Amino acid sequence: MKFAGLFFDELREWGGIFVAIRPFMYYVEWLCFTATWKMKPRIAYVGNSGSNEGFMFKQLFRRDKSESGVGNGRSTSTAAHLIDLTNVVKAYETPVGDFIALKGIDLQVDPGEFVAVIGKSGSGKTTLINMITGIDRPTSGTVHVSDTAVHTLKEGPMAEWRGRNVGVIFQFFQLLPMLSCIENVMLPMDFCNMYTARERKERALHLLDQVGLIEHAYKLPSEVSGGQQQRVAIARALANDPPILVADEPTGNLDSHTALSMIQLFEELVDQGKTILMVTHDQDLAKRVTRTVIISDGEIIDEYLAKAFPALEEAQLVRATRKLETKSYAPGAVIVSQGENPDKFYIVTKGIVEVLLQEPDGQQIVVARLRSGQYFGEIAILRGGARIATVRAGTETAVEVAALDKETFTNLIGESPVTREELSRIAGQRAAETEKRKNGS
Ligand code: ADP
Ligand code: MG
Repeated sequence: MKFAGLFFDELREWGGIFVAIRPFMYYVEWLCFTATWKMKPRIAYVGNSGSNEGFMFKQLFRRDKSESGVGNGRSTSTAAHLIDLTNVVKAYETPVGDFIALKGIDLQVDPGEFVAVIGKSGSGKTTLINMITGIDRPTSGTVHVSDTAVHTLKEGPMAEWRGRNVGVIFQFFQLLPMLSCIENVMLPMDFCNMYTARERKERALHLLDQVGLIEHAYKLPSEVSGGQQQRVAIARALANDPPILVADEPTGNLDSHTALSMIQLFEELVDQGKTILMVTHDQDLAKRVTRTVIISDGEIIDEYLAKAFPALEEAQLVRATRKLETKSYAPGAVIVSQGENPDKFYIVTKGIVEVLLQEPDGQQIVVARLRSGQYFGEIAILRGGARIATVRAGTETAVEVAALDKETFTNLIGESPVTREELSRIAGQRAAETEKRKNGS
C-alpha cells in the first residue's frame, strides 16, 4: 500500500500530465503481469476521482463477485497435473492473415518438475509460457493450472490468480527503478493484499536473504549488478509464495558464471517444492533441469525422440512426434514378445525395462536392463525377421514408453543415413551379445 500510495500521490499531483510518467505505468503493468489490462480507462478513473489512494491496484486484484461464480475458471474436473495444456492453438492476427504461433500444444507438468523450454528464436516459447501465466490467451484449447481453467478467467480474477499462483521472471528483470530492492519485493504482496504490513517487510528481507542480497536490500536496482537485479526479480517472483515460477530467458542478460549461480538458486527452489518453467537458449543450463520441452515452429518435439535421433532435422522430429504413442505398463507386464513380428519401435520414457531371453528349458533370463532414454525394438525392424527377445516392464516400478509405428520409423531412418547407421551399429552389437548369451548358456 505504502508504495502504491506513494505512486498515487505523485499521480494526483501530476494530474493531467500522466503521459509523462507513462513509462513508469508500463513498469507497474509488467510488474503486475497483466499485459492485457486496459490502462487508459483506469488512469482516467484515478485522475477524475481524486479519491482515496491505494485503491486502483487493489481494485485490479479485487475478487469481483460477479465474475467469481460460474465461468470464473474453476474447473469442475479435478486436474491430475499441476499444469495441463490441451490442444492449445494460438493465432496472431497480422496484416497478411493469421499467423499460427502454437499449433495444438499438449503439455503436462507435474509438481516439482524443473522444465527447460528450448527452441529457436520465433519458435513460440514466449507465446507458450504466456498461455500458462495467463498473460495471453489461447485461440482455442484449454489451459489448466491446478484446478483453475486459466483460459476462461476474466481479467480481474486472472490478475489476482496470477499474483498468487505464478511468479514471473523476465529477461530484463523489470524492476521499478525508483524503488529500493526491498520495496520491489514487497510490491506484489501489497498489490495482492497478502500478509500484514510487518510480515511483508520481514518476508521481503527473508527472501532477499534467500537470494543472497540482504545487504543490498535498501539500494536502488541501479546500484546493484545485473545478476543481483535478476536475484531481486526472483525474490519478487517468490513474494506471494506461488507454487509455480515461470522465467523467460532469465539468464539472457547475465554472464555465464552469474547465470549458473541463478540456476543453482532455481535448483534449491525446486528442492523446496517449487515447480519451475524456464525458457533458455543455453544448452548447458538446459542440461541441469529435470525435463526439456523442445519447441519447433509452434509444435513440441518429443525430447526422447530428439535424443534418440540427434541427426534428424526439427521438421522430421516434429512429424515423428505427431505419430508417437505413449503407453504405460504395470510392473512385470510384457511389452514385446520373443518370436512375434515387429510392429513398433520403443523408447523408454519412465522406469526400467528388462530384456529377456527364453532358455531352451523354458526359463527366462534377464540379459539387459534399459532405462529412460534408451530404446528397443529396433533389431527386428532393421534386420527383418521376428523379435529376438522379450521386453517387459521392470518388476519394481511401472513403465512408460513412447512407441513409433514401424512405417514411421522406417521412413525416418530412410531419410537420415547417419541415423540408420547409428541404429544399425547398436542393433548389431545387441544382436551379437544376444547370440553370445544363447551359445554360452
Ligand atoms: P520465441 O519466444 O520462441 O522467440 P515467440 O513466442 O515470441 O517466439 O513468437 C512466436 C512467433 O509468433 C514468432 O514468429 C513471432 O514473430 C510471432 N508473434 C509473436 N507475437 C506476435 C504478435 N503479437 N503478432 C504477430 N505475431 C507474433
Ligand atoms: Mg521469446
